[in-house]
Amino acid sequence: MINWGSGLNNPKFKQRRKALVEKLRKKGIKDQRVLEAIQMVARHVFVDTALQDRAYQDSALPIGKKQTISQPYTVARQTELLEVKPGEKVLEIGTGSGYQAAVLCELGAQVYTVERHKKLYEKARETLHELGYSIHAKLGDGTRGWSAYAPYDAIVVTAGAPVVPDDLVAQLNVNGRLVVPVGDENRQEMVRIIKIREGEFEEEHYSDFKFVPLIGEQGWKE
Ligand code: SAM
Repeated sequence: MINWGSGLNNPKFKQRRKALVEKLRKKGIKDQRVLEAIQMVARHVFVDTALQDRAYQDSALPIGKKQTISQPYTVARQTELLEVKPGEKVLEIGTGSGYQAAVLCELGAQVYTVERHKKLYEKARETLHELGYSIHAKLGDGTRGWSAYAPYDAIVVTAGAPVVPDDLVAQLNVNGRLVVPVGDENRQEMVRIIKIREGEFEEEHYSDFKFVPLIGEQGWKE
């Protein structure tokens, strides 16, 4: 069973969420739908009870297995770059706590998510299920994507990659967007690849972030 803290709809947490959304707006997040989705998701439910009081600070927090729930600004920025429309099929690599998947669900996406750590995969599935979010989750190496359900309208990688994984590019739909942090282990540039038409891609680069490493066949070695 997950711990609901002092209740899912505790006004204290709702109020803090509102303040967080205002902070994200001031930091430059413009997409109103993304801000509304963040307003809807109870981030405190995705972290341990001891950390729930810090859930609405704009910072990453530990979730076990040396992994983190990403900083809210990072989630908001990646989601903004994905430009998700309701009904689109979205693949997330790095389920972690499940928080980003919940934000994507709030945007009306059909969410597919892959995690390599069994404990995190199981806990995220349970949390999302208990919150009523319907997602497709898989345990495995997300650097290879999830070919059974490809192509995707959007793909987001929530761990830092040494290079853009080829398999993820190959699983994009026409007009599909891939958002992936690429760089060394200390700093990554946010890269967005848009598939214009079959065999033609546009690549854009955004400012730096710091992610935990993407580990796998087309990522870093363990
Ligand atoms: N999106 C997550 C959330 O909302 O809580 C945050 C993810 S955390 C920053 C990055 C996650 O990527 C970790 O849970 C890590 O185990 C996972 N990861 C790293 N390499 C992976 C891979 N090759 N396939 C799937 N997951 C991977």
